[in-house]
Amino acid sequence: MSLFQALLAGIVLPLAATASTAPSKGDLCHIIDSQLPGLVGFPNSTQYQDSQSTYYTENERQVKPSCVFRPGSTKDVARFVKLAADYDRGTKNPSLSSPLFAVRSGGHTLWQGAANAEGGVTVDMRGMDSFSLSVDKKVASIGGGSDFAKVYPQVDAHNLTVIGGRIPGVAAGGFLSGGGKNFFSRRHGFGCDNIYGYEVVLASGEVVYASASQNQDLWLALKGGSNNFGIITRYDLATYPLDLMWGGTTVLNFTPAVLDDEAQAFSDIMRPENFDDAVDVGVLLGFQNGAFFLLNTMFYSAPVANPPIFKNFTKIPGIIAQSLNLSTVSERVIEDGALLPPTVPRSFELVYSFHNADAQTYRKLIQFWQDEITRISKVDGLAVQYLLQPMPVTNGTNVLGVPPNAKDLGMWVLTGLWNKAADDDTVTKALTTILQKSERVLLEKNLSIGFKYLNYADVTQNPISTYGGENVARLWATSKKYDPKGLWQKRVPGVKLPSTY
Ligand SMILES: Cc1cc2nc3c(=O)[nH]c(=O)nc-3n(C[C@H](O)[C@H](O)[C@H](O)COP(=O)(O)OP(=O)(O)OC[C@H]3O[C@@H](n4cnc5c(N)ncnc54)[C@H](O)[C@@H]3O)c2cc1C
Repeated sequence: MSLFQALLAGIVLPLAATASTAPSKGDLCHIIDSQLPGLVGFPNSTQYQDSQSTYYTENERQVKPSCVFRPGSTKDVARFVKLAADYDRGTKNPSLSSPLFAVRSGGHTLWQGAANAEGGVTVDMRGMDSFSLSVDKKVASIGGGSDFAKVYPQVDAHNLTVIGGRIPGVAAGGFLSGGGKNFFSRRHGFGCDNIYGYEVVLASGEVVYASASQNQDLWLALKGGSNNFGIITRYDLATYPLDLMWGGTTVLNFTPAVLDDEAQAFSDIMRPENFDDAVDVGVLLGFQNGAFFLLNTMFYSAPVANPPIFKNFTKIPGIIAQSLNLSTVSERVIEDGALLPPTVPRSFELVYSFHNADAQTYRKLIQFWQDEITRISKVDGLAVQYLLQPMPVTNGTNVLGVPPNAKDLGMWVLTGLWNKAADDDTVTKALTTILQKSERVLLEKNLSIGFKYLNYADVTQNPISTYGGENVARLWATSKKYDPKGLWQKRVPGVKLPSTY
């Protein structure tokens, strides 16, 4: 037998492995490629290019994995994790700065490295998009990488809905593991509050089911604990009856008087005495092409045109355009998606949360934003969105630490986009200043709540640390039980469990 034949037969492989120093991570790609043929894409392949080009932000598109693995079944995922964990066994000083693999679904996280592995393997879950309804139609089972824009038409066909993303491309993998704010979240809570069960591939490669009656600690940890416990291959979601919903967008003049009215309208609709669980609303302050603009989004989860609850928004003088209609959820998602670019350049996003404030306080925070954005308005390609919206009313079956049944909580999401790396500091500092000044005011008024919603937070906001000590302790206990060697903590990037709490 020649050396070549022996290599093929695998006879000298163990010798070679022990004799060499730690192999480069690129080798993991070749191991997977040989064990799971046809599922690995190397640079320049269509599979690789398709994954890279479909990240929402340039931050993620700049990360270059050695290969992309595209599983088609839970078995593929389980085999991959086992191979990766075995391969990693001898790695000295494992660190997230040199990730072993990353997991992506919709690729809509804005911060760099959330779902793409520089020099490692990126697991692209988008092929895991199966759909089925239980016989009684109460449970929709969707693959772990499903894009909600493809899920909705399948539930719409039965006059049902699920609590998923509101823009095409946002996928179950990230949306549901980080929380999930939907049109109906004032009634049904976060997306993760509505999950009966998860099929998960653990660090050992074992496939387990987590529900209220099986692996309950894992079930709870996955409700907000992000990618710290395994790769989720299937979500079993609660379905809700829904025929048509009402809603859409109004565009208003950006003037001080209109901003006063907006602040008042938001403060009013958020008062507990005005609570209506069918309502979702957003005040979107924007800056683009050198000018400020203002949009309202209004949604009502019943087939009622122009519900009076929104009158404080619809009566504001200064509406210059509007598109409000009755639609199915999938039509709504497509219509709203068309308002946004499919991909964006450099980006940075921050979030903060609070108890409802009076109109003057909201107005003050709007002014902080406007002044700071005016100051950096010359940044090349600057576009900023400042979205004020209600917090989901959660039932508390999650680890987020948001008080259950609280109706007066809101969150403000601040997103900046720009063209050049040279402006990174200017923009991120300006957005951070807006957040800090605003939180200071809210703290003084005893309105601030520390919670940072993971799906809108930058990684530097350390969102899981805001879930509260008890929840973080519970997450660590679950991590130690299901991932004793810390694969997800040390080798797979994402929002990780906080080291101190
Ligand atoms: C245009 C736009 C609109 C948005 N709209 C909403 C909205 O209406 N409501 C809302 O709440 N949020 C919204 N978001 C935020 C969104 O929920 C998050 O960005 C979310 O993480 C996106 O999920 P993804 O699968 O696309 O993300 P990815 O970037 O692919 O993944 C996010 C994280 O989840 C992990 N992950 C992905 N798949 C799996 C899996 N199968 N198993 C385990 N871990 C996994 C990844 O490793 C990564 O750390 C929006 C974002 C954008 C850019």
